[in-house]
Amino acid sequence: MKNLTKKNVAKLKPSATLVINEKCKELIKQGKKVYQFGFGQSPFPVPEQIVGALKNNAHRKEYLPMQGLNDLRDAISKYLEKKTGVNYSKENIIITPGSKEAMLLMHVAFDGEIILSAPSWVSYEPQAIIGRNKVHWIETSRENNWFPTAKQLEKKIQSLKNRNLIFILNSPNNPSGTVCKNLKELATVAKKHNLLILSDEIYTDLTFCNKYDSISKFYPQGTFISGGLSKWCGAGGWRLGFFAVPHKLSSFLESIKTLASESYSTVNSPLQFAAIEAYKGDYSEYKKKVTSILRSVGNYVYNNLKSNKVLVRPPQGAFYLMPEFLNNKFKSSIKLCETILEDTGVAMLPASEFGFKSKKMLTRLSYTDFNGAEFLKANINGNLLDDKIIEKYAPNVVEGIQKLSNWAKNL
Ligand code: PMP
Ligand code: GLU
Repeated sequence: MKNLTKKNVAKLKPSATLVINEKCKELIKQGKKVYQFGFGQSPFPVPEQIVGALKNNAHRKEYLPMQGLNDLRDAISKYLEKKTGVNYSKENIIITPGSKEAMLLMHVAFDGEIILSAPSWVSYEPQAIIGRNKVHWIETSRENNWFPTAKQLEKKIQSLKNRNLIFILNSPNNPSGTVCKNLKELATVAKKHNLLILSDEIYTDLTFCNKYDSISKFYPQGTFISGGLSKWCGAGGWRLGFFAVPHKLSSFLESIKTLASESYSTVNSPLQFAAIEAYKGDYSEYKKKVTSILRSVGNYVYNNLKSNKVLVRPPQGAFYLMPEFLNNKFKSSIKLCETILEDTGVAMLPASEFGFKSKKMLTRLSYTDFNGAEFLKANINGNLLDDKIIEKYAPNVVEGIQKLSNWAKNL
């Protein structure tokens, strides 16, 4: 048989996040008890008014402008200004089918190299490979909250010949659940070396301290921002994202726009109209409740998992934790996750998918295996919720974490 696949694509495999989701569903179908801590999906329903807006616009069938609806870009521009203090004008924003697609198009268009810090989200490196952009890694540490120091970033830049560089920063972070505290220092280094930054802000509205700082505040001229409805709005399957570029880089957006027009054309029309409601409406109460639940469940998991065998940073945002299992029994973190799944029914992802060496016994744990619609009915006042409430509304998380921590005791 003739080989039909390009070399750079042949190297890739289906994304680990989507694979674990399908594997769990299959095991459940076979009647197995599985604690689904592998896939990262919001458990909460999309706010009713936004669902209503989608219904009311279902009749819209015309293609919309390739860059996306004017009013939606305008709403996102205002949302970003409120969040970050920086003005990304509507002319410099494009609407994409999920922010993942926006990032892919960025890699396809970009002529340069990419700096990632481990941990980094599973898709960044494969996307760079698709775009034929070389990737350079910076390894971070638990002590530094899983983000690179300014010194590490500067050293990495200085070690590279190519001056066209993009560093991808994601805070709150998938997979570590931590928030970057040294944005200003990182921005200073970026500015000094003309390093571009893609600030992946998909979890911005799920920051537990309720105050979000964007690196664009310190480096507006060199920061791209991507975001969308998947996480804060519970609408992962709707596939709506955006990509915003600083004014002086607007010609780069033109390239992305061309790629968009030659691939997906434009995001589906009913969804773009519904997204105006999502960005214009006031969903602060919903966000407050959702964040409060996630913070409480995250803290519950943290408190019940950490031990002398399991090291983990406290949750600061998004819905992940990245525990390290202290042992030398397993050959790789993949093997570790397979054994845990077999022994306990707890599904997680190995940290080797997030840029770590396979020997590092780190995993990503997503604590979203609960019914968010039911949980929102609880009395939530913004304080950390009582364990009793968590036991009632997130029984799978409670049971799964108990199994996992008992398993870890025997390491
Ligand atoms: N960045 C990170 C860190 C993510 O976890 C996700 C989740 N899929 C995405 C980007 C992409 O999100 P979406 O394509 O749904 O906007
Ligand atoms: N962001 C989710 C995760 O990291 C899954 C969705 C995706 O990978 O596109 O698990």
